[in-house]
Amino acid sequence: MKCNIICKFANETKMLMNIKNKSDIEKLCGIINKACKITLTVHARPDGDAIGSSIGFMHYLTELKSKDAKLVIADPVPDNISFIVPETDSGNVLTYSHAQDKQEIADRIKSSDLIFCLDFNNLSRTSDLEPMFTESTAEKILIDHHPEPDLSVFDESFSMIEVSSTAELIFHILMAMPEIGNDASKLPEISAAALLTGMTTDTNNFANSVFPSTLDMASALLEAGVDRDGILAMLYNRYRENRIRLLGFLLDKKLVITRKGAAYMVIDKKTADKYDIREGETEGFVNIPLAIEDVCMSILLKEDNGFFRVSIRSKKGISANECAKRFFNGGGHENAAGGKLYIQTDIKKKADAGDYIKKSTDIFLTQDI
Ligand code: 5GP
Ligand code: MN
Repeated sequence: MKCNIICKFANETKMLMNIKNKSDIEKLCGIINKACKITLTVHARPDGDAIGSSIGFMHYLTELKSKDAKLVIADPVPDNISFIVPETDSGNVLTYSHAQDKQEIADRIKSSDLIFCLDFNNLSRTSDLEPMFTESTAEKILIDHHPEPDLSVFDESFSMIEVSSTAELIFHILMAMPEIGNDASKLPEISAAALLTGMTTDTNNFANSVFPSTLDMASALLEAGVDRDGILAMLYNRYRENRIRLLGFLLDKKLVITRKGAAYMVIDKKTADKYDIREGETEGFVNIPLAIEDVCMSILLKEDNGFFRVSIRSKKGISANECAKRFFNGGGHENAAGGKLYIQTDIKKKADAGDYIKKSTDIFLTQDI
């Protein structure tokens, strides 16, 4: 056990050294310098890390490199994260699902000569934008921390699993850039706050996936003057009352714990409507049952149109990623993953969701332990 921990950190440090030393950074600099039109993209239904890393990187490109850079996303920035996107960015953040002019986005992608793909490992995670990115002839660069990236579609990749977040990876890349020279105070203010936000949400406020490099990043950003208290207040202290009341209801009435230690809760549309739940408002619910000693995996299902959205969290030694891949048409990280459960395909009817989770986790946890 001890050896594992030492090895993990040694590996991680080595990889970060690579970022700092290798000619990769010079190469990346060269690619950015010669690009005229840059498009950044992140996974559909973006989370704090997707938005934090892309806004952070975009402001480096626009403010310190004077580049034409825009962020194109399949879905809107969630309300709880929108505080890191300045109003002046309204023309630079293009949302496909809500766009009045979808052609404008298609044209933007087509005419870009450089595309940065952040916080996902496979173009399918960009949802409706996938065909446009697949067809694009632009140079594509991946910057991501998910396992098993589909490297065949990217020209260059900065892919590292042993890092807290894509925001952290971007931070270390930026620190190695000549304009920053390892001095976080030279980062644009918006970048610094956005990157700290992305890292904070992906680590669940320093609860998971924290490495020495993560704390180095936090320390450098605090020293550079980022208002962490302000970020935490925006992230965690302004929920609507309904969200908290729904959480109480779910934990009291809906939480099921199987004999194998899988905890699950299913939120159907009727319940979500009763509590007037908005997009993204159930974020974080899935983590809570993991606090129970006998629970090794927690699954949250939320009904959508014709399917359930699935969120999975697991304790050390149990792979949420494998479970999502095998039973829920998805994937993710070792201990935090997600996917979809299709009604009429995976299960006959909505009411079968609980049984499906029970059966699949029984099989999975029997083999995994
Ligand atoms: P969440 O439960 O917060 O929605 O997602 C946790 C993690 O699971 C995300 O960071 C992402 O890596 C992964 N994930 C969520 N949904 C999907 C999905 O539909 N497909 C895949 N491949 N990964 C997903
Ligand atoms: Mn991430």
